[in-house]
Amino acid sequence: MTSARELRIAVVGAGASGMMALIKLREAGFDDVTIYEKAETLGGTWRDNRYPGVTCDVPSHGYRYSFAPNPEWSHVCAPGPEILDYLKDVAAKHDVERSVRYGEEVVRADYRDGKWEVETTSGPQGQFDAVLTATGVLHHPTYPDIPGREDFEGEAFHTSRWKDGLELEGKRVGVIGTGSTATQITGALAGKVAHYSLFQRTAQWIAPLPQGPIPEEQKALFREKPELLQSEYERISHENNSKFAAAIVGANPRAYEKLVEVCKEHLETKVRDPELRAKLTPDYAVGCKRLILSENFYDAIQHPDAELVTEPIERIEAKGIRTKDGRLHELDVLVYATGFNTHQLMRPMRVRGQDGRTLDEVWAEGNRGYLAVTVPGFPNWFMIGGPNSPIGNFSWLLTAERQFGYALRLIEKLRDGNLTEIVPKKQAAERFNEEVRAALPGTVWATGCKSWYIDKHGNIASWPFTFEKFEADMKEPRWDDFEMA
Ligand code: NAP
Repeated sequence: MTSARELRIAVVGAGASGMMALIKLREAGFDDVTIYEKAETLGGTWRDNRYPGVTCDVPSHGYRYSFAPNPEWSHVCAPGPEILDYLKDVAAKHDVERSVRYGEEVVRADYRDGKWEVETTSGPQGQFDAVLTATGVLHHPTYPDIPGREDFEGEAFHTSRWKDGLELEGKRVGVIGTGSTATQITGALAGKVAHYSLFQRTAQWIAPLPQGPIPEEQKALFREKPELLQSEYERISHENNSKFAAAIVGANPRAYEKLVEVCKEHLETKVRDPELRAKLTPDYAVGCKRLILSENFYDAIQHPDAELVTEPIERIEAKGIRTKDGRLHELDVLVYATGFNTHQLMRPMRVRGQDGRTLDEVWAEGNRGYLAVTVPGFPNWFMIGGPNSPIGNFSWLLTAERQFGYALRLIEKLRDGNLTEIVPKKQAAERFNEEVRAALPGTVWATGCKSWYIDKHGNIASWPFTFEKFEADMKEPRWDDFEMA
């Protein structure tokens, strides 16, 4: 009998998923693990998104690592900086940073005979037995294709590139976009700046979500009785997974009807002016675009110093935004809340697999893998949040832990079975992608709207099944679906 071999593993990204992967890999006995992180600090999306009003938009007690319950969340939906502090705290407790190489963007990975040769911006990093990407989905900012962007004389930036320390009091602020990000910014800024203009191309459905503080007595109770904290987590997860997530994939029609009712009632009760209400009423199904959860948006946009601009934008000029009706909206600060390219995933990194083909080539017609974690032709390559991962279905931390758990079983097989490579069979991926194709028409994402779930080829990038299927699929790999050598 041969003894298990030592594996050298590269993790790409020190966000919430990459950190978790490192902690759990160490726990499973893998000591030679390095995280490559392109930025200078950890935290991923919570490091990048520092705009006013940034908060979690699922209740925070449902957003935590399973191994780091947190009785201290200050609000039902904790502010972004608090979530970043939570991640830093977990990283410190687990001595994560000793394994992180900051300022190192992975630019290339080539597979040869059971090893990945990895190169970062500072040069070749040698060979690895396995690579695990934890690069997130929402991190390549998209700027609008509007003429005149370079002419604007004030401050202009994307929401994920917020200008720290910028004083907004007394300023005229314009925000382009009406996604979750713009909605949170509106709640924070409307009424607090000299004038606030929100440029809306498409209205959004918004469900109310209480965001208030958590009383000290509640926190004390959670501290004293961890089982209460756990049951609160389970309650929130159950609400989300069996109602919201099931509703949007067509598996719980009653919950879907309720969701529609709640969104419509929210709009009707909060916005009494019929003209404004008409402007804020979407012309597509609830949940087709990622549902927005906000308690304060409708109030904020009705503040006397706030304006919802629905006239299309003609161009950006030195002094502000010119709309098609000829009006110039004068601005001191212009914010692009125009979202992200969510289909790029870990690229522009160049990844060359088994038969010499790159991921760019294999994914030329859209990203496809096997169960969102592996790709045929790319042995020992594991992804958190790969193609058709649940994105916007379940809590991201829960999704990431489950996908990692699945990847870990494969990595352990490499080690314990003394294997050189493990790769999904092409037929297994085809079967999975066929199931995805068959399920997508039953989801609300396919009901006719433009959203970041849909790529330029019309493929829908999310997980079109229930939480129960996700749990079952991630529990244990179907070993027959893999080639092992
Ligand atoms: P988004 O949902 O993709 O929204 C982008 C917005 O920009 C849309 O309203 C879009 O309008 C508009 N837009 C894009 N190009 C435009 C143009 N040329 N002219 C006018 N408008 C334009 O992006 P996001 O708000 O950053 O949110 C992305 C995702 O991040 C969310 O769905 C959510 O999953 C996540 N997020 C989470 C949190 C949280 O948990 N705290 C907070 C923020 C975001 P159209 O609809 O017409 O395309």
